Amino acid sequence: MTIIDTERVSALDAARSEFRDQLLASGLLVGTSVPGIYGRSGAFESIVAGLDRLLAEMVGPLQAQVLRFPPVYPRADFERTDYIASFPDLSGVVSSFERGDKEHAALLSARADGHAWDGWLDPTDVVLTPAICHPLYATLEGELPDGGATFDLSGYGFRHEPSNDPMRMQSFRMREFVYVGTPDAAQLFRDSWLDRALETLASLGLAVDAVPANDPFFGRAGRMLVSAQLRENLKIEIVVPLYGDLSEGTAIASANCQRDHLTAAFGILTADGAVAHGACVAFGMERVTLALLRTHGLDFLAWPEGVRALLGL
Ligand code: AMP
Ligand code: ZN
Repeated sequence: MTIIDTERVSALDAARSEFRDQLLASGLLVGTSVPGIYGRSGAFESIVAGLDRLLAEMVGPLQAQVLRFPPVYPRADFERTDYIASFPDLSGVVSSFERGDKEHAALLSARADGHAWDGWLDPTDVVLTPAICHPLYATLEGELPDGGATFDLSGYGFRHEPSNDPMRMQSFRMREFVYVGTPDAAQLFRDSWLDRALETLASLGLAVDAVPANDPFFGRAGRMLVSAQLRENLKIEIVVPLYGDLSEGTAIASANCQRDHLTAAFGILTADGAVAHGACVAFGMERVTLALLRTHGLDFLAWPEGVRALLGL
């Protein structure tokens, strides 16, 4: 890194910390002892709720099937995706105590002595959901109806990426619109709903841009997956500049072609028996809310009239 790069990185860190401090001081976010884990205020949640309504209106014509899953899903399904191979550092497995009295006593005595006690816990059969379309795919095994199927999902996802950047949380909500069907229809879904998502977010006064992107695949093997994803233009992010020239922008939504990545793993077929393709458009609810707060100010009552009207605020 050159000196200029290093200076830019520290200026960006400082700008992020300043924004975080403002959010905490205003009470919009409530900090905890762990970076990236926050409480949200009533005002924050009003914006999230407004956004949820606006997105529901946007996808009205899709007549998507609404489905909600809890923030954990079966470890056996997680195994069938290759998430642990690609993103071991982001994964979260739920552990609990499954042993007897003797081990319980040992746990208590270690705890009383101020030692680690989590060695007595074992992984349960659930993991924290990393992307809210994953639990859906696990339920779609078999043949899809003619024309495929469209879903409207919402829920908390977990990614182990502790950070002081308020836009990078460990537990955050996504709203996702997912299509499964033929390869051509999946590609068309991704491209057309990317455009609609851009329009909707721009209507809120956000300076959005669409850029080719990749997922943060882990390690050396991950580098090949990154270049394949970029080469085949499988992931496009909608970014908003939050800190002027200091960064290229932060992703508030993404439009993804999953091809047969998850559909093959779960045996999901089109009506004519071929392996289906999947596509999804995912909105980061906290990130869109934070982008609005950064763009229009921390008091939503002072936001432009048109933006408030769209969000019912
Ligand atoms: P992805 O599946 O990585 O494309 O994520 C979908 C959307 O979720 C992103 O465009 C972000 O808006 C949001 N998101 C991803 N990671 C985080 C995070 N660590 N904290 C908050 N929002 C996130
Ligand atoms: Zn998805």
